[in-house]
Amino acid sequence: LEPTSFTNESKAVIDFIADYYKNIEEYPVQSGVEPGYLSAKLPDSAPYCPESLEDILKDVNDCIIPGLTHWQSPNFFAYFQANASTAGFLGEMLCSGFNVVGFNWISSPAATELESIVLDWMGKLLKLPSSFLFSGTGGGVLHGSTCEAAVCTLAAARDKALKELGGWENITKLMVYASDQTHFTFQKAAKLVGIPPSNFRFIETSLSTGFSMSSDQVRLAIEHDIKSGLVPLFLCATIGTTACGAIDPIAELGQVAREYKLWLHIDAAYAGSACICPELRHFLDGVELANSVSMNPHKWFLTNMDCCCLWITEPRLLVDSLSTDPEILRNKASEFKAVLDYKDWQVALSRRFRALKLWIVIRRHGLANLVYHIRSDISMAERFEAFVAKDDRFDIVVPRKFALVCFRLKPKQELEGLELNSRLLEAINSSGRAFMTHAVVGGIYVIRCAIGTTMTEERHVDALWKLIQEKAQGLLME
Ligand code: PLP
Repeated sequence: LEPTSFTNESKAVIDFIADYYKNIEEYPVQSGVEPGYLSAKLPDSAPYCPESLEDILKDVNDCIIPGLTHWQSPNFFAYFQANASTAGFLGEMLCSGFNVVGFNWISSPAATELESIVLDWMGKLLKLPSSFLFSGTGGGVLHGSTCEAAVCTLAAARDKALKELGGWENITKLMVYASDQTHFTFQKAAKLVGIPPSNFRFIETSLSTGFSMSSDQVRLAIEHDIKSGLVPLFLCATIGTTACGAIDPIAELGQVAREYKLWLHIDAAYAGSACICPELRHFLDGVELANSVSMNPHKWFLTNMDCCCLWITEPRLLVDSLSTDPEILRNKASEFKAVLDYKDWQVALSRRFRALKLWIVIRRHGLANLVYHIRSDISMAERFEAFVAKDDRFDIVVPRKFALVCFRLKPKQELEGLELNSRLLEAINSSGRAFMTHAVVGGIYVIRCAIGTTMTEERHVDALWKLIQEKAQGLLME
């Protein structure tokens, strides 16, 4: 790590990335390579002698870029975006530049302290109650993903319940509730913490209620399980579900959770970012009834991968569940309990200094620009939605809440909706000019248009609509 070559080589890589961004619209958005394409291009064993950066970047250009799906392309409308920004890059650079491993306070005090400060900043931007903030009675942590946050939260809830029930043999009684729209990561997390898959209760949703979870149905399921000798443990509510952006009624679900003493978690992975806008904050109303909340700044908050905020009202429960005390990590600050050690808030020991990135993103943009960014994506989604609504060959299947539009070509008699729309999607994606994905909600195949990539402008949305119309026309003429 010699400073002069570090500077020169880093500059070369930055120039390479800048060129990539200049040309990003020229690439087919979704990679069209065949499986195994890369092993045909690269040697089958590692080099013995060092190679030049020039040669390596040439291979990145010739071999890696063709195998990329361009998530930062302004014509990327798939999944949920992972929007990057210059500030996010700079934060990542500083994080890798220092390359510290802040598993406990003493291993890099600034890493721990900045993380706590930034979690409070972010919590205040979302107007979370003080029960989630360090300046109040709670606290927060940065994880790499919602899945990790879910595992840790479920472990804390599980251990609290098992303590009250009198031991591990009761684990088969613990029940987790979520809607049939809840992200599958919660099922995985429940399984990982030892809750039998049959104890994961799905609450059915339907188109008539916009795929949001009914608190009455949750109550019925809980009552039924209690009568069967089971113990309701955990309820996961979502703001902005993955398939169609549905919103669960937090306040109503919170009442049920309080009544039956369930741990309520709010998964706002996608739409949490939008709740910084005053006009959208009401989706979080009732959050004071929750035990934990998570959201991913790496989706819609201009923060490069990876970054998930988790807040919890009783951090000691995470620590009770996840703390370890090996001799090798013992130090005075931890022993005197004067500090917090984030290794006890997560699964792994090692951790990245992610807080730098989120701190820089917030500081470089300011709340004003972050709000502008969310509003402009929502306004582009409204524009797209209006295009679809005006064309009577199409349907908006689920009412839009944020910047995700779920639509379809109305099925004609001779072609089923699934076949017609999957062929339409295939025709759009294989053109290389845009990339969208699909979902099946309430048995209906929908095309998802998720607007939110940093470089997307109105002209890209207009071009997307033209492309959809062109491909639909072709299909309908067949
Ligand atoms: N929850 C929701 C609502 C999501 O949309 C996603 C991903 O798209 C996740 C959870 C999973 O997030 P992660 O990939 O950070 O685990």
